[in-house]
Amino acid sequence: MIVDTGWNREDCRVALVSGLNECGVDLERADFFITHMHADHSGLVSTLAGEGARIYFSQADSEIIRSSTPEHWEKMIDFARKCGFPGEELEKAVGSHPGRKYSPDNSLNICVVKDGDTISIGDYSFRCIETPGHTPGHICLYEPRKKIFICGDHILFDITPNITLSFEDRNPLKEYLTSLDKVYDLDVELVLPGHRSIFRNQKERIRELKLHHQARLTEVICILERGKQNAFQVASQMTWAIGFKSWDLFPPAQKLFAFGEAMAHLKYLEEEGEVGWRIEKQGIVFSLRQN
Ligand SMILES: [Zn+2]
Repeated sequence: MIVDTGWNREDCRVALVSGLNECGVDLERADFFITHMHADHSGLVSTLAGEGARIYFSQADSEIIRSSTPEHWEKMIDFARKCGFPGEELEKAVGSHPGRKYSPDNSLNICVVKDGDTISIGDYSFRCIETPGHTPGHICLYEPRKKIFICGDHILFDITPNITLSFEDRNPLKEYLTSLDKVYDLDVELVLPGHRSIFRNQKERIRELKLHHQARLTEVICILERGKQNAFQVASQMTWAIGFKSWDLFPPAQKLFAFGEAMAHLKYLEEEGEVGWRIEKQGIVFSLRQN
C-alpha cells in the first residue's frame, strides 16, 4: 500500500516510480491510501493505480475531489473576492494555483474509509484516524503494535500545516486544534509526516503547533486593534516565514494561501465571540467586538 503520491506531473511520476522500484514495489499489486485531497498528495494516484487497486480516501475529501469543477473554483474565487482579495491578483493566484494544475483525474474509483476502520497489509494493521483541519476529510494511519503514526499534513515538523478557510460554513482552525488533541496521547515511536523530516515524537510538536496558533490569534487581534479591515488587509500585516522582503513581493498564489490562513483565524475568533463582521460597500470587513 502506497500512502500519498505527489503532484500529477511527469517529473514527480518519474521520481516516485524510480523510488518505488528501488524498494521493490510492484505497482500492479499496490493499493493506495490518500491522507487528504491536496494535489501534492493525491495528484498521481489516477496515473499510478492499476485496474484492481483499492484507493482509500475519506468521504469528505473524496467529495471535494469529485466536485473540483470550474464552478467550484468560481465559488471559491467569489468568496475570496467578497472578503477583500483584489480581483486582478486573484485571477493570477488561481491561474497559478498548483491544486488546480496538478490534481488527479476526478473520476477516481474510491474506497471510502472512516474513523476507526482498520486496513491490514501483511504484518501491519493500520487504524484510520479522522483528523479534520488541514482539510475537512484529512485522515491519518496508526499502527498500534509497531507504534507507527503516518500523519499526512496533520503534523509537520519543520513547517506548520496550512489551515485555511475557503468557504464560510466551516471553522477549520477549531477542527484542527481538536484533531491535534485527538492524536496527542497515541503511543508512537515513529512519526511519518507528508513533508520533510521524520520524527519520533508527536507530543512536543503538537504543543508547539497549538502555541503557534494561539500566537497567531493574538496577532490577528492586535492587527484589528488598528481598526476594521478586510481579510486581505489582515493577512498582509501578519508575520509570514517566507523568503520575500514584503507582502507586495509575495507571488499571488502565496498571498492566497496566507489569505486563507488569515480567514481561518478570523473565523475562529468570530465563533469565539471576539470578532464581528459586516458587509460594507467594498465587501466583508472584520472588527473587534466591544465587550
Ligand atoms: Zn496538504
